[in-house]
Amino acid sequence: MTTTGTAGGTTPRRPAARQVVVSILTIDCGFDDNGRQTRQPRAKYDCNLCGQREGPVDGASAVIAFSASIRTDHPARCTARSSA
Ligand SMILES: [Zn+2]
Repeated sequence: MTTTGTAGGTTPRRPAARQVVVSILTIDCGFDDNGRQTRQPRAKYDCNLCGQREGPVDGASAVIAFSASIRTDHPARCTARSSA
């Protein structure tokens, strides 16, 4: 792919760097049927490097705390990531 420069010439465009999904944080916001909570919020974290799943956790406050910290907590204890 090329782009047109200001002088009218073309410049080769560098392809995007390869991106890999290393983890997936899934949050289910639950379901509220006119004030009656029929499904609690829940969250889970899947690491594609070590294959571990953290959670699921249930309940609004647990989901908030889990989603705020898991993206830093899991990499610190992930067995597939080198810490050195
Ligand atoms: Zn991991």
